[in-house]
Amino acid sequence: MSEISGRCLCGSVKYSTSAEPLRMAQCHCKDCQRASGTGHMSLAFFKAEDVSITGQYKEYSSKADSGNENIRAFCEDCGARLFGRNSARAGLMAIAVGTADDNSWFKPQAIVYDKDKPHWDQMDSELPTFESMPPPPK
Ligand SMILES: [Zn+2]
Ligand SMILES: [Zn+2]
Repeated sequence: MSEISGRCLCGSVKYSTSAEPLRMAQCHCKDCQRASGTGHMSLAFFKAEDVSITGQYKEYSSKADSGNENIRAFCEDCGARLFGRNSARAGLMAIAVGTADDNSWFKPQAIVYDKDKPHWDQMDSELPTFESMPPPPK
C-alpha cells in the first residue's frame, strides 16, 4: 500500500499516512449509527503518531457501553466525521474510511456490535462477527 490520504467534505481538514492499518472493522453500535446517520461506520485503525492531520476539527466525547470515553472528531465547517479515539486504547486512532480519497484498500476483518445492526444493513456473513466489542488483540 502506498500513501493513504483523505479529507472532510469541504476539504478544510486533511490527513495522510504511509502506515498500514493495524485493524479494520465495521461498527454497528448505536452511537456510530447516530454519528454517521447510516447503519454502520467503516473504520481503519492506525497509530495516531503515524497520521498527520492539517486543519481545524472539533471533538465530541461520549461514553461507550464499556465505560470508556469514545471521542469522535468532525470538521467544524462541514460536519464530516473523520476520526475516532477511545480512552482505553491510548495512541490509537480510527479513520472513518469513507473520507479516504481512495478507500479500495479497505478490507474489514470484523463486524462489531452486531447486536445493534439494523436488518437492512447487510454485511459479509463470512466475516468474524461480534455481539459487542471483542477484547483488543494482544
Ligand atoms: Zn469540512
Ligand atoms: Zn461504533
